[in-house]
Amino acid sequence: MEWGAIFLHKEEIIQKAEAFCKEHRVNRFPVNVITLCEQCGITVFGHMLPPAVSGFIVIQEEPFQDFGTGHLIVMNSCDSAGRQRFTIAHELAHYVLHREGNEPIYAHRDAGQNDGIEREANIFASNLLMPTALMEKFLRGLDGYPQSVLADQVASAFAVSHEAALVRLDQLGLIGG
Ligand SMILES: [Zn+2]
Repeated sequence: MEWGAIFLHKEEIIQKAEAFCKEHRVNRFPVNVITLCEQCGITVFGHMLPPAVSGFIVIQEEPFQDFGTGHLIVMNSCDSAGRQRFTIAHELAHYVLHREGNEPIYAHRDAGQNDGIEREANIFASNLLMPTALMEKFLRGLDGYPQSVLADQVASAFAVSHEAALVRLDQLGLIGG
């Protein structure tokens, strides 16, 4: 599928993620990303996918294969829980950021993709799973902890991978990049 080639600024993506969190009353962690998908009319499935594929989203009128719905996100059930959650948030980001009107969406997330719309979806996902306000609240109690401990604490509280926690802490300027 051809996506619109006009890329969003990072700040714009963060604003959209914050607006989405506000609209859907995201006010505690770990963020229930499956419920957020359901609120958008999207059903989440776990499925065994090839190791290089984290998941995909399909938005179309007619049911997709034997899933019984045409609004779905499939995550690789072989991935770790943290990675699965990031994949769901990433695919939901395509729905929120990249859908044009009622056009269908087909996108999949592969290991190592991080440019153009994939980068945009990753920024949105990171801000959705670790919203600024909730992160600040959580981190207030952890002043003075070493970086790796901080990342571990965030990873376990927000149910994300250690790596995703590090990226988000860096984005927030809370650890040295
Ligand atoms: Zn993607």
